[in-house]
Amino acid sequence: MMRIDKRLSKALVWSSMVSLVSLGPAKAGPCCLLNVPVVSGFSRTSSTEPSTPSSDLDPGIVKLVESISEDRLAAILKKLESFETRSTLSSSDSPTRGIGAARQWILEEMRSYSPRLQVSFDTYQVAKQGRITRDVEVRNVMAVLPGRSPRRIYVSGHYDTVARPGGQGAANAGPPRDPDAPAPAPADPNAPLDNPAPGVNDDGSGTALTIELSRAFAQSGIDFDATLVFMCHVGEEQGLIGAKLHARKALQEHIPIEAVFNNDIVGNDRGGNGIIDGATIRVYSEGPEDSSSRELARFVQRWGARYVPSHKVRLMARPDRFGRGGDHSAYNQYGFAAVGFRESRENFTRQHDVRDLFEGMSPAYLARNARVNAAAAATLALAPAPPGVTNERGQPTISRQPSGYDANLKWTASPGAAGYRIFWRDAWGPDWQHETLVSNVTQFVLPDTQIDDYVFGVAAVDAAGHESYVSAYVTPPRAGGDVKLLK
Ligand SMILES: [Zn+2]
Repeated sequence: MMRIDKRLSKALVWSSMVSLVSLGPAKAGPCCLLNVPVVSGFSRTSSTEPSTPSSDLDPGIVKLVESISEDRLAAILKKLESFETRSTLSSSDSPTRGIGAARQWILEEMRSYSPRLQVSFDTYQVAKQGRITRDVEVRNVMAVLPGRSPRRIYVSGHYDTVARPGGQGAANAGPPRDPDAPAPAPADPNAPLDNPAPGVNDDGSGTALTIELSRAFAQSGIDFDATLVFMCHVGEEQGLIGAKLHARKALQEHIPIEAVFNNDIVGNDRGGNGIIDGATIRVYSEGPEDSSSRELARFVQRWGARYVPSHKVRLMARPDRFGRGGDHSAYNQYGFAAVGFRESRENFTRQHDVRDLFEGMSPAYLARNARVNAAAAATLALAPAPPGVTNERGQPTISRQPSGYDANLKWTASPGAAGYRIFWRDAWGPDWQHETLVSNVTQFVLPDTQIDDYVFGVAAVDAAGHESYVSAYVTPPRAGGDVKLLK
């Protein structure tokens, strides 16, 4: 893995601000000290020793990604199917069927993996409202793998299920419906909703992925900087209930959630229209275009491609599919960076339907999606936190100094960073076009570069090359103001 040469960074004696002499090649390579920009105002000593280029990949993460087991995922899916329904409103007192049995099994399964995992129910008493047709106790199941710092990275799915007459296939073929419309009132609102709702793909797949990653991370032997949380949400099908309650609590308790990787319907590679695609995964993220969720999505694509090059991450610049929702949006609602993974080709006739069974699943495809999640989450959890690029008033710390025509980027240092990677691209375009590695500084100048014509961002990098997601310099929307007219 690429290392920032400590001797080199120590030898950089900064006497003034750092600046790029030229913008360099169109696409600067990510892993080479030669791409440290030519800097002015400092001297370099003992730089005769060449740095040793090494693999861009962390062998620990490679091993972790390889440890994701297709067979284990298949076994978890079959177990989840065996509960017949995991509806949030189903019976909670049977030891083998319904939501109570399912959540107890998930808790005990994750507990069995490692004493390092702190597994618990995240419990709430929810009043009757909307699609919650009676007062009900809901329990997310969460497994925490403590890191060296309190900042948190979530991998999630929802273990609750739903089945309606005709399923999602009939819903899609019919006229558009209001996704927030309350469900029709059941005959007896106080009776448990125990109709079969196997939900093996929706969202047994995201749940199995989350459970399997909790095992792989806890047993990896890696000492992560970030605290990892493997979260199986409940109440998703009634309006993201479990995720909203947890995200709201996290905001109230100032829990620093840095990223949420939410997986919902990620285990089937055969579209209902016959189109098969087992080599790609979609990642949805809320805008605007350089929101932290968008940067997280770009990060998943960048690091997924390195560790799982056979699997393509397709970024979608929208919160989710039309008329559909997922738990990542609940985290967005409370201000956290969160993205939603979705299989590339859905079979709607099996969703929200009694036909959402193991027989419709591709455990191999689910395993590839799990590996992309693992690569991105592990890289992020080993990296320093993304640097801060706003001042106390929320304004981006970018200016035109010193000439008045330069791009002058400032950021706050991230604990554990050994350097920073600067990214930029034309202001009209979704993907970073240029990047360059700089040493452990908190300011960088690109001369004669009009800040109005590019998007700029900076990521923190540790000594081993683990990289945060990018913090982008964006102007917050202006409130505007009214114009007073003479009477
Ligand atoms: Zn779902």
